[in-house]
Amino acid sequence: MRGAVMHAAGDVRIESIPDPEIQQPSDALVRVTRACICGSDLWPYKDLAPGEPPRVMGHEAIGVVEAVGADVRTVKTGDVVVMPFAFSDGTCEFCEHGLHTACIHGGFFGNPEVPGAQAEAIRVPLADGTLYPLPVGEDDALMPSLLTLSDVMGTGHHAAVSARVRPGARVAVVGDGAVGLCAVIAAKRLGAEQIVLLGRHADRIALARDFGATDVVPERGQEAIERAKELTDGYGVHAVLECVGTEDAVLTAVAIARPGGAVGRVGVPHYDAIPQAQPTFYGNIGIGGGPAPARAYIDELLPDILDGTIEPGRVFDRVVDLDGVPDGYRAMDEREAIKVLVQP
Ligand SMILES: [Zn+2]
Repeated sequence: MRGAVMHAAGDVRIESIPDPEIQQPSDALVRVTRACICGSDLWPYKDLAPGEPPRVMGHEAIGVVEAVGADVRTVKTGDVVVMPFAFSDGTCEFCEHGLHTACIHGGFFGNPEVPGAQAEAIRVPLADGTLYPLPVGEDDALMPSLLTLSDVMGTGHHAAVSARVRPGARVAVVGDGAVGLCAVIAAKRLGAEQIVLLGRHADRIALARDFGATDVVPERGQEAIERAKELTDGYGVHAVLECVGTEDAVLTAVAIARPGGAVGRVGVPHYDAIPQAQPTFYGNIGIGGGPAPARAYIDELLPDILDGTIEPGRVFDRVVDLDGVPDGYRAMDEREAIKVLVQP
């Protein structure tokens, strides 16, 4: 079969790769009908060193189950399923508490050990705990929004949960990528009264306003901090949803939280230390977040997608086939596309 293989920074190739096979009795094989390119795929696209093992990319997918191992009980051949970006058993100490990304038997897709979903098919370990059957056909019009349950909508929701967004809250979202835009949806869905987006791209800002952003701060650094405080009576916000992962972004995030507020970090950290130790201590500011347990949130988010209450699939502004994947990386890296949907 064919898949997208990253060899080094900037070097994604469509190649012939081994067909996936059932290796463990808990595996399933899924024919990928929709996948996507993630903002986090851009990190290796920027800095994967030559000599690192090549990897089949992609950790977000919807597909049709083609075969299951002998122990699989909850999904069957023919099911349309969404695959969260982490696989998990669904039964361990941490899965039981809804933290599937800490599953003691789990792991992530799209690395040298576990090939990813930017391919015609994928092997899914721990299928019972990982895959979620969807009550729709494989070409349902809601596919783009359903696909966001595998990562970006669950991740935006996790930022909001980690930052303790409550009805009436003043919220800031740092970052206008697909996760930031989904974080706006999540904040509004949880009842935020004010949602300040820190972002600077016109197309993304327009979408954020549609999703519920009430204010936009295009500045960066100290100027952004001052502007966000001006918009919030000088105190800052109750909840900051940090959806970038750079040092600048986290510095801004902790600086605009008000005393008693909280920061939810979902941007993969590209910094060594969380800044502002003294102000966050004296302000009793909570700092939480991490990789979203996307699997845990599907039960809660799916009904709102099915009835049209939320439309996170609008973050996709480009659709490609497998051959279009390398250019899709380029387009996202150059901020020409917000998020690219792949139809293998
Ligand atoms: Zn587990």
